[in-house]
Amino acid sequence: MQLSKQNFQERTDKVYDAIVIGGGAGGLSAGVYLQRYLLSSLIIDKGKARSFWMQELHNYLGLPPDTPGRTLLKHGKDHYLSVGGDLLNAYVEEVVEEGDIFVVRVKIGRQDSIYAEFRTKYLIAASGIIDNLPFLDDMQNVYEYAGYNLHVCLICDGYEMADKKVGIFGKNQRSLEVAFSLGWFTPHITLFTQDMFDVTPQFRQRLEDYGYELIEEPIEKFIGENHQMTGVQLMNSSVVELEAGLISMGSQYHSGYLSSIDIQRQGENLVTDKMCRTSHPRIFAIGDLKVGLNQVVIAAADGALAATGIWQDIRREKGVKPRLDKIDSSFSLVS
Ligand SMILES: Cc1cc2nc3c(=O)[nH]c(=O)nc-3n(C[C@H](O)[C@H](O)[C@H](O)COP(=O)(O)OP(=O)(O)OC[C@H]3O[C@@H](n4cnc5c(N)ncnc54)[C@H](O)[C@@H]3O)c2cc1C
Repeated sequence: MQLSKQNFQERTDKVYDAIVIGGGAGGLSAGVYLQRYLLSSLIIDKGKARSFWMQELHNYLGLPPDTPGRTLLKHGKDHYLSVGGDLLNAYVEEVVEEGDIFVVRVKIGRQDSIYAEFRTKYLIAASGIIDNLPFLDDMQNVYEYAGYNLHVCLICDGYEMADKKVGIFGKNQRSLEVAFSLGWFTPHITLFTQDMFDVTPQFRQRLEDYGYELIEEPIEKFIGENHQMTGVQLMNSSVVELEAGLISMGSQYHSGYLSSIDIQRQGENLVTDKMCRTSHPRIFAIGDLKVGLNQVVIAAADGALAATGIWQDIRREKGVKPRLDKIDSSFSLVS
């Protein structure tokens, strides 16, 4: 059922088998599997998933390669609701552990917000990350191209950049190292520091050896039309022509709500076992938030693993009892 400000009270007394925080590819996949295991679940999602910014999903088996992320999300939500899941558009502020129950505190609505609490035995953290973008005075200019041919993911879009003249926009020398992986796809690489950081003489030499250009002058704006970036204009008014871009500026991790819970991390990613269970036995982490490859297909697979792990736990705890009511009393083993 779609929950809202009007009807959410119907569920505040319930203890769900699992609450999934995040309704992107991972969370929706987990939700579908949980429901199909006849467990009760609630997905809480604040919207604008990373996959929402994906204009074309080029590498997901069975879908046309121009499928936008928003189409995938819409089908996922419809599917989840069709198997009886609860879905709430809200922001999870905090998760608190009370005995063997988690209390999930949410804010519903940006205006005239209502605060509510939901309860669950298991938690799936599927809240993902969001990419940092180059910071310009006119951010609208960045949004115009980001996610189109100004890419954020080499694994997703290296193929799209093959043999093209590509600009890399980094936040420090380490982030520019991606140039050497991009070199697999194209030799025509220009790196931009925007005068935000220095690079060592050794790194400079390495770039020269590979034939990559380094530009330190800050960028004034991206240029192009119809969401296709064709270059950048620098602060000194010169123009650098490009056919694609790759942003390598790190990400923000959406896991602040777990701050009161001791959980193992690697950097900001959550560490999990092969079923996506974290160091906390009743918290699973899936998709971009956990250590691993940031891909839609991985997030969807993670959802299946986490839901299966939860089902196995609950099934073992409850046990499967013989359905005596279904046994035909006229049937006897002793004939
Ligand atoms: C421009 C772009 C292009 C991409 N192209 C591809 C591609 O071609 N192929 C590919 O495989 N991958 C691609 N990716 C990567 C892909 O989008 C991610 O790997 C995938 O979306 C991860 O899914 P997820 O479920 O982990 O996270 P997400 O899809 O980001 O979903 C997380 C959800 O949790 C919500 N959330 C976060 N915090 C909270 C909170 N506190 N309370 C409630 N909700 C919260 C978010 O708003 C979001 O809706 C691309 C990404 C981008 C940005």
